[in-house]
Amino acid sequence: MTPPRVLVTGRVAAVEGAERTGVNAAYVRATLAGGGVPVIASPLLPPETAATLLEGADALLLTGGADIAPARYGAAPHPTVTDVQPDRDALELALFAEARRRGLPVLAICRGLQLVNVALGGTLWQDLPSERPGPVDHRGAGLPRQARTHDVTVGEGTALAEALGCRALRTNSFHHQAIRDLATGLRVCATAADGVIEGVEGTAGAWCVGVQWHPEECVDAPDAPDLGLFRALTAAARGAHPARSRRIRSGV
Ligand code: MN
Repeated sequence: MTPPRVLVTGRVAAVEGAERTGVNAAYVRATLAGGGVPVIASPLLPPETAATLLEGADALLLTGGADIAPARYGAAPHPTVTDVQPDRDALELALFAEARRRGLPVLAICRGLQLVNVALGGTLWQDLPSERPGPVDHRGAGLPRQARTHDVTVGEGTALAEALGCRALRTNSFHHQAIRDLATGLRVCATAADGVIEGVEGTAGAWCVGVQWHPEECVDAPDAPDLGLFRALTAAARGAHPARSRRIRSGV
């Protein structure tokens, strides 16, 4: 069977004096390891291209990155919220809406989880250390990307537990924001010890899972639970296109 095509949202950054657009290599490697073919969508593309970008795509991966503009959820910006990227917000919101309309599965990571919550009407803690201080360090400042620093508990019977194959794991953590008010249409499926939401999933429609940590950095070991998220995304993508799969199986 043709591997599912996964649209991966990208970023823009200045590197060595030039503005460049792409995505962290870990997202590409993890998508490949999960059986998908990643296609990077630059945030320079206008939101009107969302339908074109998803034409022929089998799944959407919303990646990590800068804070979402607080105006998107009706809040004034906290002083720590800098470097907002309104163009990227607009494209990703359009891609998420279009993916849902098409019944495509969505995996949303870090900023991606926050974007899904905002898209569906939820709000965010803009800065956990100052607005919701607690004993768990979610920032991971200066740590290697693979460093697993805090525990996450996963709800029984959830799509997230099924994807990971476990109900508890230690995760990496590089975020200062988190879900505050959960949007209608999502359920919490994972939390940290301090109650911060670390995973959500859609209550209806196509497979849609979001995690606050970075599973893409933790897929090197073949038995890593994090790899299960990327496998589950491609499995859901195969299920989302039954007609196409039948056509491929019959060789048409
Ligand atoms: Mn965390």
